[in-house]
Amino acid sequence: MTIDVPQHILDALTDVDMPRLSPEAVSSETVRLAGTDVPVYRAGCVIVGSGAAGLRAAVELKRRGDDVAIVSQSAWGGTSACSGSDKQTLHTANTADQGDNYKAMARAIRAGGAMDEDTAYVEAVGSSRMMASLQFLGLPLPQEPLGGTLRYQTDHDEVGRATSCGPRTSRLMVKVLAEEAIRLGIPFYNHATVVKILKEERGPESRICGALVMKAGDRCENNPIGLALFVCNVLVLAAGGPGELYRDSVYPNGCFGSLGLALEAGIELVNLTESQFGIGTRREGFPWNLSGTYVQAIPHLFSVDADGNEHHFLAEYYRTTQELASNVFRKGYQWPFHSTRMLDFGSSLVDLAIYRESIAGRQVFMDFNRNPLTVPGDLPFSLERLDRDVSQYLGNAGARQEMPIDRLRHMNPLSIELYRRYKINIAEQPLEFAVNNQHMNGGIMVDTWGRSNVAGCYAIGEAAGTHGVTRPGGAALNAGQVFGTRVAEHISASGKARMPPEADIRIAAEQGMAEISTLLRSDSELSVKAIRTEVQARMSDKAGLICDPRSVAEALQEARLLNKSISTHGIAYDRAAEAARAVQWCQMAIASEAVLAALDFFIANGGGSRGARAICDRNGESLPLSKSGPLEAFRFRKERDEHRQEQIVVRMGTGGFDIHTRQNRTFDESARSFFERDWPAWLTGRIYDLEKS
Ligand SMILES: Cc1cc2nc3c(=O)[nH]c(=O)nc-3n(C[C@H](O)[C@H](O)[C@H](O)COP(=O)(O)OP(=O)(O)OC[C@H]3O[C@@H](n4cnc5c(N)ncnc54)[C@H](O)[C@@H]3O)c2cc1C
Repeated sequence: MTIDVPQHILDALTDVDMPRLSPEAVSSETVRLAGTDVPVYRAGCVIVGSGAAGLRAAVELKRRGDDVAIVSQSAWGGTSACSGSDKQTLHTANTADQGDNYKAMARAIRAGGAMDEDTAYVEAVGSSRMMASLQFLGLPLPQEPLGGTLRYQTDHDEVGRATSCGPRTSRLMVKVLAEEAIRLGIPFYNHATVVKILKEERGPESRICGALVMKAGDRCENNPIGLALFVCNVLVLAAGGPGELYRDSVYPNGCFGSLGLALEAGIELVNLTESQFGIGTRREGFPWNLSGTYVQAIPHLFSVDADGNEHHFLAEYYRTTQELASNVFRKGYQWPFHSTRMLDFGSSLVDLAIYRESIAGRQVFMDFNRNPLTVPGDLPFSLERLDRDVSQYLGNAGARQEMPIDRLRHMNPLSIELYRRYKINIAEQPLEFAVNNQHMNGGIMVDTWGRSNVAGCYAIGEAAGTHGVTRPGGAALNAGQVFGTRVAEHISASGKARMPPEADIRIAAEQGMAEISTLLRSDSELSVKAIRTEVQARMSDKAGLICDPRSVAEALQEARLLNKSISTHGIAYDRAAEAARAVQWCQMAIASEAVLAALDFFIANGGGSRGARAICDRNGESLPLSKSGPLEAFRFRKERDEHRQEQIVVRMGTGGFDIHTRQNRTFDESARSFFERDWPAWLTGRIYDLEKS
């Protein structure tokens, strides 16, 4: 059987056009701040970011009759609109065959530890609704003839809860949600970057009252950096992940997220130690994840040194050609690096090997026109000599073609098409790739309604730190949709975003302006480029997938020094258009210190290797082996069981970071709802726990 999919179908799934935004509303009000007439915009709720998560919250709020506006650095920028993989994955309860068990799904979602049990259940039980509503909006998820959704197995997923529209699932999600936002007439401010969260004191606690934004459309002679004041009662941070944090990264360019922005506003972050690293093409070219069929086609992986010599580097790690080929295949659904998979000749030895080649200054390639070369002294590659799980999968998929490119074309023609659109023909030339940073599992600490510790501030999508140490592939997109809906329900129930606020927030705005003016200084010796280079190099070299206690501690000291220097000297920027970037780079320097401080705290308290990070230690209990012998330099500490029950919380104080742990919230699986008893809580809105707000 061969898949013969007409070109126009491939085109529609790989080349996704975005809708045209409606003309932007203009401000009819200004306020004079530090000698500048600053335009004022008012909305009950401001959503920061127009990725899949932010758009979801906006649409859900508007449908409930609330007053909502979207403020976005780049309408169709960000990870949802610009990232993907061979089959970009959505993780939902399995609707095919026997159906699914939400409690079992919740257990699977939190299996890596350091995740709130109630949140895992929220994501599991909310997944069916999120999927159905996206389908209602037009998301083309593939179905069986009788209506079940087609499924496959992905990372950290033993059951097969993954589904996909193809390489661009999240872009298609953005498209259908954006179309709905436009239909609903939600005000959308594009090229508008939130640079300061504004709060006002109300009794003992402070509450969100607005945000300072740098908005391209508001730049003028008197206001060259385009400062605008947004007044709101509620702010939803949906600004995505800190993609610029690492040099070696598969995030699209210009993803800053909101970790630094949030820390400056006194918002607590959690699980900052947890990031995903895995193979992909870097953002210097076309950033794309290389899981799934790219590796399940079993291409030959090789490296090239500075003199142009080719190296069959995996042959130094795996004992037989079969072992090598089977582990390349397994990267398809064991995509993120995981320290324990370096043991017993597992699939993360592939990541380690690639990482070492890169450190040695070699370029690494994937060649779809060659089967893996023979491990010296062993038999050549054959489809008849693969581990059982591998040959079974390829057999079921009908992928018995002789060459990797034909197996790939058979299993997933979209994956070839995709690169072709970016002028890379993987059917003809080898594809350069590396191990990169892809996803931040931690982020803003929220409860089961998406509330942060600051009243009026919610966080969703990758901005929120709802994932634990590991997450099944596709759980990020699911979480963004489920919590996008949850925050909208909660905000709507609170009544806080019904109307645009009339408040005068000049005092908070002036303070925010003053802080920005202190930061942006034309005479500073620190430039955007210098901060960027320093932060990214430090994070990739000392806090990536492989690190050790000493390098993390050193990196933390260096990060502290950089932030001290930024506080003293500020940052210079060349053009008005660069001002927002300059602020974002200072916030990224803060976020970087926070990540390092959390990592240092974790390691100092005996933290071991978990998630996508190996903590190397001469006295570590685990030693990866390779064909060429033990890899002593990568001996690593084991994870400690007690750390799975807690999360590391970080908050920025005046004298540095306050770091502590808290226990995971629990979920009683035996508790059952009872309709007549529990209905009043729903009818009266008690389920929203509004007193806490
Ligand atoms: C290569 C790759 C492959 C992936 N594959 C999968 C997958 O298969 N399954 C899965 O579940 N997840 C996957 N992920 C992760 C997933 O795509 C992201 O976690 C998710 O798309 C994040 O959505 P979001 O809406 O939270 O943020 P984003 O989509 O990143 O959107 C953030 C938005 O915020 C805006 N913004 C940022 N800062 C500001 C600011 N200060 N002011 C105003 N606006 C701002 C941006 O312009 C953007 O509009 C992948 C990620 C990558 C990089």
